[in-house]
Amino acid sequence: MNRYITAALSAALLAALTSCAAEPAPQTASERDVFAMDTFMTMKAYGDGADKALEAAETRIFELESELSVTEADSDISRINSAKGAAVEVSPDTALLVGAGAQYWQDTAGALDISVYPVLREWGFTTGEYKVPDSSTIAKLLKNVCGGEISVSGSTVQIPADSEIDLGALAKGYTGDEIMAIFRENGVSSGLVSLGGNVQALGSKPDGSDWRIGIKDPFSPDENMCVVSIADKAVVTSGNYERCFEADDGKVYWHIIDPADGCPADNGLVSVTIIGSKGLQCDALSTALFVMGTDKAQTYLADHTDVEAVLVTDDGSLLYTDGLREKLDITGDMPSEVIARD
Ligand code: AMP
Ligand code: MG
Repeated sequence: MNRYITAALSAALLAALTSCAAEPAPQTASERDVFAMDTFMTMKAYGDGADKALEAAETRIFELESELSVTEADSDISRINSAKGAAVEVSPDTALLVGAGAQYWQDTAGALDISVYPVLREWGFTTGEYKVPDSSTIAKLLKNVCGGEISVSGSTVQIPADSEIDLGALAKGYTGDEIMAIFRENGVSSGLVSLGGNVQALGSKPDGSDWRIGIKDPFSPDENMCVVSIADKAVVTSGNYERCFEADDGKVYWHIIDPADGCPADNGLVSVTIIGSKGLQCDALSTALFVMGTDKAQTYLADHTDVEAVLVTDDGSLLYTDGLREKLDITGDMPSEVIARD
């Protein structure tokens, strides 16, 4: 009898040891690519609900696009823009995002202004028919840039009669947050989405390690200048190398407009990456801090320690917030400096 017990115990022990020693089978990702919001988007998800989650995420992306698009004639945004000052009933998503636009206008001292749209259009950034507008046209259009006069009350939005808005600076950040919520609801344990310059992760990689996200070198956008390790975070970059053109005067102009003068923001920064837990906040701030420029962006970051940032100056320095000390691998040869916050 004893012999049988010993043999059974040995077999059990062996089974336990071999099962511990064996590598867990790597999980395979379910993946999906979507083209929406003028952006090539990729999504991957791990876990039992991954396929269902990706299906639901795709549906949600197209739903948001149809509400928020500035070019689709019956979107909420187009209806607001053609309402000639009347209050317009909109979806909860649109009300939330227009409200966020108004709030960030205040919070960033006007650097983020969703009503800068007619100026952007004049430069051709919305159509691809680029031109440098003359200064009197810009001055005229700036009169209707009115971030402080946008009002949201429940499900209605109202803007001044001659103003127009677009949510290009915020929409993808919010979309990232919404995809993360759908992933969670469907039991996805781990996932990553890339929506143009917006990357957002649910949890860590399936093996428990951090996701490693490359940040482009604005002077050589085919290469990364650094890699940041994250879990459960958004990494959102606004760069001067996206949607830009060289004009006859030999200068390069880009799609982030300084509402102070109606021209591409040229205040010392060529790339701003914001890292934080909310995609919407990161997206709003990547655009706003780009507009603020080197000094004001650092002052803002000193007062807002809930996000981390990587800034690149136009003379080629990389500045990063102290919370990234252990998380950032600088791969290029740019000189770097830590933005201290106390
Ligand atoms: P992002 O790529 O997130 O920095 O957003 C840039 C987009 O936001 C542009 O393509 C415009 O549609 C819009 N935009 C440009 N400048 C501003 C600004 N100062 N405030 C709000 N939206 C802007
Ligand atoms: Mg943005």
